Amino acid sequence: MSATVTVRVPAKVNVQLAVGAARPDGFHDLANVFLAVGLYDEVTVTESDELRVTCAGPDAGQVPLDRTNLAARAALALAERYGRRPGVHLHIAKDIPVAGGMAGGSADGAAALVACDALWGTNASREELLDICAELGSDVPFSLVGGAALGTGRGEKLRPLEAGGTFHWVFAMADGGLSTPAVFREFDRLNEGVRIPGPTASDELLAALAKGDAHTLAGALSNDLQPAALSLRPSLADTLAAGRAAGALAGLVSGSGPTTAFLAADAESATAVARALLASGTCRAARVAESPAVGATVV
Ligand code: ATP
Repeated sequence: MSATVTVRVPAKVNVQLAVGAARPDGFHDLANVFLAVGLYDEVTVTESDELRVTCAGPDAGQVPLDRTNLAARAALALAERYGRRPGVHLHIAKDIPVAGGMAGGSADGAAALVACDALWGTNASREELLDICAELGSDVPFSLVGGAALGTGRGEKLRPLEAGGTFHWVFAMADGGLSTPAVFREFDRLNEGVRIPGPTASDELLAALAKGDAHTLAGALSNDLQPAALSLRPSLADTLAAGRAAGALAGLVSGSGPTTAFLAADAESATAVARALLASGTCRAARVAESPAVGATVV
């Protein structure tokens, strides 16, 4: 029997996403406060003659199974760096919504990297793994570390943050995805001619996160991409209104959307908000999850 390694990896929500003006390279400088949440994908790797990707789960049909899959790209990057053959079967058990603004693809990239490192015994240092993650995409390093962190640059330069308690979230999944580059293009269009200040993290938000104070955090949640996501998908305003009416402390578009995230006062309230959101008919599914969650971990 061939050896197998499984890695569990969380989704993320951006409790603050401050977006700067477009840089000459087209990217935007960000101040991105990431929080890992307890919705997980699992990536299982097994030795194989050739690189192969399979995926199971409700959104599996939308996941590419070729070498553009971030899990495949991660395996290829590690194999290249260590001069080994990338013969591996990557199976993704997908629970994180696809193209939902919850970094599902990035999560699979980080998970595949940790899994292949363990399977092949490459023993890459944390720094090397983070280096490969940053090459794969802006959100991949955070998927590796989990917890809470401030991402600057394109979001890939990480500083760990303190999260002083459990936060209770509800995520409302929308039909269809939103492309992250399309949302940034809409941000640029909406802000044409506007002077955009350099993005900075909110001190009030960081303090609320460190204290585990859900009420203050709710008041400080912000996402500069929200107007662009709402412009491309106006129906998300109805979902946000339904969640707030159901008793959520606050709601916002998660990252580039179209998933919306609601902060609840406690676990009981989160369950009630999820039920009401589903009943409102303004989303495809509603899931509760707690944060923070640990990053990519061998199980
Ligand atoms: P982010 O929050 O980082 O902007 P997202 O959660 O909105 O990302 P993903 O689920 O990561 O979006 O998927 C974005 C696109 O990436 C998909 O439409 C798909 O074509 C591609 N993709 C590549 N690898 C994967 C993967 N392992 N899982 C899901 N999508 C993937």
